[in-house]
Amino acid sequence: MQVNFFTFKLDDFVCTKCGWGGKGAELKNGDFSETHFICDLDCPSCFEHIGFWQAPLRKEVEKWKIEHPGVKTGWDDLDMT
Ligand SMILES: [Zn+2]
Repeated sequence: MQVNFFTFKLDDFVCTKCGWGGKGAELKNGDFSETHFICDLDCPSCFEHIGFWQAPLRKEVEKWKIEHPGVKTGWDDLDMT
């Protein structure tokens, strides 16, 4: 399952294997593909694969920010521009 890169840190997730539940920010980073800029997200309790994100292009970040003004992303301490 591909998570929404912009909002997954604040979204709720449940592990279907062990029942862990929490915010996306609590998920563990799994494998990262430097070729595709895809990062796997694993359950922090049992390391089951939960989902993945793919880093957006710069213009996709700018477009999303225009379309979602003021929406909290969980990346707000980072300058994504
Ligand atoms: Zn789990």
